[in-house]
Amino acid sequence: MTKKVHNFNAGPCVLPDQAIDNTIEALKNFRGTGMAVIEVSHRSKEWSEVMEETESLWRELLNIPENYKILFLGGGASMQFLYVAMNLLEHKAGYLETGAWAKKAFKEALGLGNAIAVASSADKNYNYIPKGYTIPSDLDYFHITTNNTIYGTEIKEDIDSPVTLVADMSSDIMTRRVDVSKYGLIYGGAQKNVGPAGVAFAIIREDILGKVSRHIPTMLDYKIHIDKKGMFNTPPVINIYIMLETLKWLKGIGGIDKIHEINLRKSQMLYEEIDRNSMFTGTAEKEDRSIMNHCFVMAKGYENLQDEFLSFAKENGMVGIKGHRSVGGFRASLYNACTEDDVAALVKCMRDFENNNK
Ligand SMILES: *Cc1c(COP(=O)(O)O)cnc(C)c1O
Repeated sequence: MTKKVHNFNAGPCVLPDQAIDNTIEALKNFRGTGMAVIEVSHRSKEWSEVMEETESLWRELLNIPENYKILFLGGGASMQFLYVAMNLLEHKAGYLETGAWAKKAFKEALGLGNAIAVASSADKNYNYIPKGYTIPSDLDYFHITTNNTIYGTEIKEDIDSPVTLVADMSSDIMTRRVDVSKYGLIYGGAQKNVGPAGVAFAIIREDILGKVSRHIPTMLDYKIHIDKKGMFNTPPVINIYIMLETLKWLKGIGGIDKIHEINLRKSQMLYEEIDRNSMFTGTAEKEDRSIMNHCFVMAKGYENLQDEFLSFAKENGMVGIKGHRSVGGFRASLYNACTEDDVAALVKCMRDFENNNK
């Protein structure tokens, strides 16, 4: 398929054409079985191969060390908020409160035990990443959200933590190199950069498990899923299949370092325009700006043109640039499958709008 619009949706979002085309083929005849990929047994040889290939691509692309296990689970990132607290919280957990998703993760821990916000950027509507805080050494784990999808801020470097570091990387996994060995657990929903909604990934260093005294319900127990090699129950098959095809595409274009280079170019192109264009203003602090989600509003004096810009952008083929209701204005999400041409089209649209309205 060839896309007819420029898709800047925040998630679900644009996926590579190649991944969609290959999935359509697999829905017609999956690996010569004469069945659709959603019709075969999840215990079949063909399906086992899909699981193995998907896992090995994760390991290869992210350079995941041997002592980490990888799971693909239903329930999205929001269910992982609960998994994290269920499996790791005994005495006290710490959360970095950098936005709405971070708060939701924090809330699940509060529902199960003692948890604290180590630092927060709520005072400025989450438009920056807190700095200079100290992570207490008596925490069971410290939880961060590396990319704040709604506010357009991002922790772009792996941080040092004296306790087990847990990260929600829903919206920036596979977009830049990560030193997995610095984390006890990395998880996220697939639907921004690695596949469709409904499946979550969890990369777990096994030794962090088995340390809590609570009863963990079967389906929420990472250990059980690990022991059953991710097939304790029927996995979300079509989601995993699309993830495999998405990762194959990523490997094909050159992997993480290559996509990171492209992502930096795309992001810079758009931020340069946001900063240059007299009609728009970025909302996040410059040093913490996300390379994925670009949030901006109409500049002072032009607020009344907001709806007009939205219609103008729509007429020119832009999709999904309305900002989240908690920030307002606009948000353009430049995930891996969003191309440099898409970004150039948006930049042109912003320029044309400025020229038409000055
Ligand atoms: C999208 C998103 C989520 C929620 O994912 P679901 O799969 O819908 O539960 C959580 N955290 C972050 C950072 C996100 O971007």
